[in-house]
Amino acid sequence: MLPTALASFLREHDVAIRDDEARRVLAHAITRGRDGFPLERPVPKRIEAAIAELVDRRPIEILERATDPADGFVKYLFRLHDGALAEAVRIPLEKKDHFSVCLSSQAGCAMGCLFCATGRMGLERHLEAWEIVAQFVAVRDEAPGRVSGAVFQGQGEPLHNLDRVTQAARILSSPCGGAISGSAITISTVGLVPGILKLASDPPPWRLIVSLTSAVDDKRRRLIPAAGAWRVEDIADAVRAYQRAVGGRVTIAWVLLGGVNHGPDEVEALERLFDGVPLRFNLIDVNDARPDGFRRATDAEREAFRDALQVLGAPVVRRYSGGVARHAACGMLASTKTMS
Ligand code: SF4
Repeated sequence: MLPTALASFLREHDVAIRDDEARRVLAHAITRGRDGFPLERPVPKRIEAAIAELVDRRPIEILERATDPADGFVKYLFRLHDGALAEAVRIPLEKKDHFSVCLSSQAGCAMGCLFCATGRMGLERHLEAWEIVAQFVAVRDEAPGRVSGAVFQGQGEPLHNLDRVTQAARILSSPCGGAISGSAITISTVGLVPGILKLASDPPPWRLIVSLTSAVDDKRRRLIPAAGAWRVEDIADAVRAYQRAVGGRVTIAWVLLGGVNHGPDEVEALERLFDGVPLRFNLIDVNDARPDGFRRATDAEREAFRDALQVLGAPVVRRYSGGVARHAACGMLASTKTMS
């Protein structure tokens, strides 16, 4: 809850609470990650008693933390109150002692991307906003430094659970919530057109990344079966609307699949679809753990694609996706223990 929601909830139950008291309660629980009372800056005992009685607070349990010794990425596996599992990843940032947290928005995922272990799980359920915030609080409280960002790139398609993701992002960016900047929150989508258009109609402060991975309709439908409901033309139109609403460049993520999606067909389709739309590209190596899975593009293939993308006038960055040794990297989250 945000402070206004907590205050209204308690008032509906005839519990008088001032807005500053509601802020104090939430800062205690979320900003400082404390459960239970008393608060460091106390509120009246009747408010504590009402919260203890009326507000449902369910624990999330950390089942495992697995650190990749190569890069310091830490994967967390959580058990939720109903037994569902979720994962988050603590990501070291370039700035010393600063971290970001990669959060799950769903248990499993309905999108079925062929290059993603989560996609092979299917969707178990949406996560509630508090279950998303609780992942953040658990990871942040163990971080050996400052957690200054959050990315919705764990299990799940965030725009498939947009209202709860939006609520969680609001809480993460609230000064008495996660207290991180709205612009340090990134939401990633495989291209759910209604969700992109909704964000375009009322742009939030967080950043959006559209994970396109192929601009050729048939190929994309095969690689990302559920998102095949939308043609690449419709995704491009939604991206264009979003760019007009927020300005700047829209980031397109591209999971590079060796021999599959770095040829001239892709560049031609991108030129045609995104003519005049300012973009930036993030190239991400595929991390498929299956023996029969996709292979990584070779250095030569990656460089050739990078060069070919110059025609679009868009900056192209190769994104590091860490934690491979602990199955924490992009496309590897599958609710499994990695250390046993
Ligand atoms: S890549 Fe993202 S959207 Fe696709 S299956 Fe994996 S978690 Fe879902």
